[in-house]
Amino acid sequence: MNLVATLGIALLLGLVTGSFLNVCILRIPEGTFFKNTRSHCPACGALIPWYLNLPVFSFFVLRGRARCCSAKISWQYPLIECATGLLFAYLALRFPFIEIKQGDFAQGVGRIIAIDSNEGWRFLHAMVFCCVLLVASVIDLRLMIIPDVLSLGLIVLTPVVVALHPDLGWRSSLLGVVLGAGILYAVAWTYWLLRHEVGMGFGDVKLLAGIGGWLGYEALFPVILTASVSGSLVGIGVMIWTRKFHGKTALPFGPFLAFGAVVYLLFNQEIKELWISMGL
Ligand SMILES: [Zn+2]
Repeated sequence: MNLVATLGIALLLGLVTGSFLNVCILRIPEGTFFKNTRSHCPACGALIPWYLNLPVFSFFVLRGRARCCSAKISWQYPLIECATGLLFAYLALRFPFIEIKQGDFAQGVGRIIAIDSNEGWRFLHAMVFCCVLLVASVIDLRLMIIPDVLSLGLIVLTPVVVALHPDLGWRSSLLGVVLGAGILYAVAWTYWLLRHEVGMGFGDVKLLAGIGGWLGYEALFPVILTASVSGSLVGIGVMIWTRKFHGKTALPFGPFLAFGAVVYLLFNQEIKELWISMGL
């Protein structure tokens, strides 16, 4: 029962947070984050009452159309909300920071709620990190930019993460920022020297620096490897899908870096064990 309750709370919290992330995705590039706090219909500008603005639920009740002007509501909204909900539920399982112990009834002590602060910081770190990367990825997919407030935000917050996170050392983190920026900057520079065009945006450079800061330099190689392989596979998929085999298919690299970082953060141990069990 404890497990079900924990997962339920985490899922609900994730759905609500996902709803907030949708607002970030919409407003950060527009620079309207702090303006008119109430939600407006993006099609006609009408105010959306709270009961039509519930995560996931409202989308299905409205059957994907706005009540005010029956404009189609993007699938992005419920998708981001569901993804965040599942993410939070997984993180709650992965970093069980709340322990409920049966107390001693003879002494009149019922249940004791204990908080494991190390797991708590790991949970918070993973939660904030994944949310920032999710917002950055969707904005990059839609507009081919990664707003500085997200990538530089990660870098600026790195000292706080080092101070609070139980497993991250400052040397590893500092090296992560410097190498993360350096590696992609070198790649971008080489590409420019060879082909005289911009192959990689400076946004990606800043994002990888932030990832290096939050995960440590040890993460950089696996993150770049996962990003390159998954990016190439998706790129080939898009080429086949659109039947454009020549010329360029412009895919942003940011979402793949984010994907690599989340895979490293959440499954690094499992992947290592898999390698070892395969005798490599
Ligand atoms: Zn409307």
